[in-house]
Amino acid sequence: MSGPVRTEDVPAVATDAIRPAPNPTVVVTDSRTSQVGHVAVRRALPQRTRRTVGAWCFVDHMGPVPVTEDGGVDIGPHPHIGLHTVTWLVAGEVLHRDGLGSEQVIRPGQLNLMTAGHGVAHAEEATGRYRGDLHGVQLWVAQPETTRHGPPAFEHHAELPHLDLDHGVATVLVGALGAAASPARRDTDLVGVDLDLRPGTTVVPLQPGHEHALVVLDGAVALAGTAGPVRPGHLAYLGEGRDELALTVTAPERALLVGGEPFESPVLMWWNYVARTQGEVGAAVRAWNDPDDARFAPVTSRLDRIPSPSPPWERW
Ligand code: MN
Repeated sequence: MSGPVRTEDVPAVATDAIRPAPNPTVVVTDSRTSQVGHVAVRRALPQRTRRTVGAWCFVDHMGPVPVTEDGGVDIGPHPHIGLHTVTWLVAGEVLHRDGLGSEQVIRPGQLNLMTAGHGVAHAEEATGRYRGDLHGVQLWVAQPETTRHGPPAFEHHAELPHLDLDHGVATVLVGALGAAASPARRDTDLVGVDLDLRPGTTVVPLQPGHEHALVVLDGAVALAGTAGPVRPGHLAYLGEGRDELALTVTAPERALLVGGEPFESPVLMWWNYVARTQGEVGAAVRAWNDPDDARFAPVTSRLDRIPSPSPPWERW
């Protein structure tokens, strides 16, 4: 489910030209429509004016879209560096395979978290069994300098902690919300929460030192400071300095809250790489295309390996 980042998404340079507002704010921006495999997705991050929310640097919202046993999201083996992929489904099933030998079907309520470090490759396939709607998100988390050159890893969490809210239930994917803390790996101070909301107003506790953003997965969510409800296809950036967030819905709705301490440095995102310099990206492109199995261990997959395009700064 991981879509490559293109220069239409963001220019291939690391910049912190747009810093997050230090105080609570609400800035609603439209997602870009992008294509992942055969499926259209709403890309809420990165945006030209906002690369990161905490360490979250990529948010793709996919579906709901019908898939079959042998077709749907078919992303052949491809590489990543410098990030964690976080996969979370509202409906459907996807088979994850990676160069570490992991082979894991993910279902709604479960979390797949893959750490790329200096390099890993994976594929995302139909399960050979599931037919129906696929609906979910894939998120990337930028790794900090302390871990981004380290070894790859993969985690699957079949159970995650829940927190009962006024009119809904929060599932903590990563980090902590109130007394509920996820067992998933995180290399920086951040939080990712699924919100399953019932009609009424729900107050979500937040950490004021974090910046936050809300993505609506289903329905419409009203929050103070916006002209109208936030819907799928929006990113509602909330700034820093909030200790709570009030969300009002009139029907059962689903949303995703992401946040964290503002990231330590600008990142350079291009294709499936999160780096700091063009040289790092160029080295990863060559190691994948040549290929260097010591850096990107091969993935067993029924799908074809996806070659890396050349970076725009190397074309002439
Ligand atoms: Mn991927």
